[in-house]
Amino acid sequence: MSRRANARIEEKSELSHGETLRVLGRAFRYARPFRNRFAVKYLLLLASLLPLLITPWPVKIIVDHVIEELPILPSAYPSALQPLAEALVGLPPNEVLYWMVVLQLALLLLVGAVGTGGGERDRAESKLSGGHDQASRTENEANEGWSMASGLLGLFDFRFTIKLTQALNHHYRSRLFERIQGLPMTVFDDERIGDAVFRVMYDTPSITNAVYRIILAPLASIAFVLAVIWVIAILFGDHPIFWQTSLAMFAVSLLVSLPFPSTLRRRSTASRRAGSATTSSLEEGLTNILAVQSLGAEDREQDRFDDDSWSSFVRHRSVIVVGMVIFVFAFIPGMAMGAYAFFHAADLVILDQISRGDFLLLFTYYLYLIFACVDLGALWIRLQEAAIGLHRVFFLMDLPTETDAVGTPPLPHPPEEVRIDSVEYHYPDGTPALRDVSLTLRVGEIVALAGPAGAGKTTLASLIPRFLEPKSGRVLYDGRDAAGFTRDSVRAQVAFVFQETLLFDATVEQNIRLGRPDATEAEIRRAARRAGAEGFIRGLPQGYHTPLGRGGGKLSVGQKQRLAIARALVREGPILIMDEPTSALDPETERALIATMEEAREDRAVLVIAHRLSTIRHADRIAFVDKGRIVEEGSHAELMARPDGAYRRFVDLQTRGAA
Ligand code: ADP
Repeated sequence: MSRRANARIEEKSELSHGETLRVLGRAFRYARPFRNRFAVKYLLLLASLLPLLITPWPVKIIVDHVIEELPILPSAYPSALQPLAEALVGLPPNEVLYWMVVLQLALLLLVGAVGTGGGERDRAESKLSGGHDQASRTENEANEGWSMASGLLGLFDFRFTIKLTQALNHHYRSRLFERIQGLPMTVFDDERIGDAVFRVMYDTPSITNAVYRIILAPLASIAFVLAVIWVIAILFGDHPIFWQTSLAMFAVSLLVSLPFPSTLRRRSTASRRAGSATTSSLEEGLTNILAVQSLGAEDREQDRFDDDSWSSFVRHRSVIVVGMVIFVFAFIPGMAMGAYAFFHAADLVILDQISRGDFLLLFTYYLYLIFACVDLGALWIRLQEAAIGLHRVFFLMDLPTETDAVGTPPLPHPPEEVRIDSVEYHYPDGTPALRDVSLTLRVGEIVALAGPAGAGKTTLASLIPRFLEPKSGRVLYDGRDAAGFTRDSVRAQVAFVFQETLLFDATVEQNIRLGRPDATEAEIRRAARRAGAEGFIRGLPQGYHTPLGRGGGKLSVGQKQRLAIARALVREGPILIMDEPTSALDPETERALIATMEEAREDRAVLVIAHRLSTIRHADRIAFVDKGRIVEEGSHAELMARPDGAYRRFVDLQTRGAA
């Protein structure tokens, strides 16, 4: 079938804040089947944050009691650490040092955290060192594992998270693929296929990103912030400056990022679209490689791919630039506030209100606090990219599919007669294809559709198995509207031999069996024999078990056609539709085609879209189609008897052309 670009159901390139929220809310619902695992992940996250409160202590103890040699006062320690402090009382400094090194090593092994500063927040990540186009980045996301801890806890948490990420992605991808399979064929013009591949593979991972950020980050960060503020207050008394500057940093990171979400959404959309275009041009270039090579169009194709691919990188860079701008704007006030708090803490040491070890402890906690607050403030902006990925996936999911309404009955019995009754059809882009067409097929009859290219023959044939649905009029199976029965049960009545043969990378036998999965070996061989395919199949290296390569690449056009006919014959339905190849058929394939029609007629209705007079002549009736209408109908002899008939002119043209 000739396929033209369909009018697209246009996708919004701009999302409002409200729509972004709705998209994220919907992503949240996809995580519901995994709620238990998310609860475990949440506990793991909290468990990995707790050690962060302990890890700065050995350093404090070393500074105060080993370097400064201050006496150990257990009462000055928080109650949880008092037993530790008591155990250290009276020990010489070098022994204190020894035990602290042991403790630090133990912590390292268990939670992988060492020393002061922000370093212990190192996330153990599974990221491949990926490229910076959308596809390789998101491939990382689909397999992302992370943990706030490392060491044994981190290892466990990390493995758990990878599994959860993959399970969630798999669930979401499968749902999407299921929906795609139910889309009507008119959705997929060539451009859409690359686009759909991109959406399935590279837009879906946004789900994990979004869900982790929405579910885990805020809860865990808020819990952590409160815990740290509380610990600081208990240990060092009331110093509002620490939580105030942290809160201010939350505000700064929120305010600084506030003007950017819509820019980021636009850029992310552009980046993903560029990725889709790259996938499409790759898909198209490879599918049509022969045409490209034979026309010497490699350079042009190369340029096209280069443009698309390069722009997918450039677009992504522009997303990164937005992130950097935000970082710079937030960094300057952040430094100022950090310095202010630093001097305040240093003052406390100078005034002898806290020890040097306390200073390290306090400042480490303060850094935790500030990072967590900045993270929280940046949450909204961080969600934008994921929201765009999700929006693109939901868009594809929401295209109307061909699912039967609940309770639709199957067709009760194989039909004796199919009647197309006053049907109109136009393609989604508005191309009118059929106007007021009526035609009846009966078991025992061969009907040929003839007419110029683009007349509407394929469209007409596609209505019978409900590949297309009439815009008005009906397709009647024994007088009952086919639209009232399930698609599967209607399609089971029809064997369709397409003009372009669609073979898969599987063995000969598997390709035929596709027509009816439960066919016996004998039935498969009989179908192959009747389709005139047996001879060449026997000549193949492994006979019926020979793998065919992609698209049946190892066979000639005629051989592929005969396999497609065998596949149709192995089906049991009473309707056989054949779209005769327009390319010259080798005599053997043509004989097979005609023999198939003749034999199938005994217990089937045969509709053949015929281009060659030799095929048309075998039909009991010929419907001549022109500009979307059936203009003449009758036997070859009847139609030839009309002096000015369209069919007669068509035949004259053909025979003259052949002469
Ligand atoms: P025929 O089989 O007689 O060559 P078709 O049924 O393939 O004709 O096409 C009938 C008309 O519908 C033509 O004008 C063709 O361009 C148009 N058409 C076919 N497929 C599509 C499609 N997927 N989208 C839009 N228009 C289409």
